[in-house]
Amino acid sequence: MNQPAKNLMWPEVLPRGGNRRLEKLERLSPWFEIYRVSEGVFAVLEPGHTEEAISYLILGGERGVLLDTGMGIANLRAEIERLTDLSIVVVTSHGHYDHVGDHHRFSEVWAFDSDSDVARIEQGRSREECTQYMAPGLYLELPDGFDPATYEILPSRVTRRLQHLEVIDLGGRTLTVHHTPGHTEGSICLLDSRDNLLFTGDTFYPGMMFAHFEDSDLAVYQKSIDYLVDLLPRVNHLCPSHNEAYVDKTALVRVQEAFEQIVNDAAPFETEGNARVYRFDGFGLMVPE
Ligand SMILES: [Zn+2]
Repeated sequence: MNQPAKNLMWPEVLPRGGNRRLEKLERLSPWFEIYRVSEGVFAVLEPGHTEEAISYLILGGERGVLLDTGMGIANLRAEIERLTDLSIVVVTSHGHYDHVGDHHRFSEVWAFDSDSDVARIEQGRSREECTQYMAPGLYLELPDGFDPATYEILPSRVTRRLQHLEVIDLGGRTLTVHHTPGHTEGSICLLDSRDNLLFTGDTFYPGMMFAHFEDSDLAVYQKSIDYLVDLLPRVNHLCPSHNEAYVDKTALVRVQEAFEQIVNDAAPFETEGNARVYRFDGFGLMVPE
């Protein structure tokens, strides 16, 4: 989740810089923006809500993975079906609502083997919860046919529990699952073998990142960032799940340095409720007080 980012680094102009570098494609619903990240890799953005969630369609020769399904405000499956005829497996970066909204439209739903993240997917979200999710604000008009009064996220059954270092073979392209807990217990990143793209989920994105949720853990999060920095020699670019679909990999090194400053009490912060808010160049971190 990405909500308080509205008050921090909210761009004057969309699309954000990293997305402007990518080829923009036609889409069915004006709720989405679709960009080609590389041959066979598409980013589907929802720039109309403060979350600015990004889902990714990653195609091999034999099948495709849809990494996350956004907020469920417009029909993501219809967009995906315009881009490929291949059979699609949904892989979940983690169980927060803004990544699982359209899971219910797909029969194959995979997630990391974490009871808490799996439970969030399988429970869905009530209308009351979804009303709160809409509260932070909208940037674009809601699409035709969407009624915020009846917005809910339907439950989906997780059909496969993924393991750390499991390899998903798409035919001519593999995705390796890297377990990177911290933001949530079951958060994962995917490393792509063809273009060396690292899909970072909510473990890294250029915005306010969150280590203060009930299911977050700052020390575990820091270890995951260290782990990802060690992977960087095998990475060309980062593809985060919010804000920008194509980010220079050196950003992760700066996040690693920021974590070190935070745990050594060497960074300035503001207090917001029960959290400390740290701001750095291009990203931030909320941690428990
Ligand atoms: Zn999240």
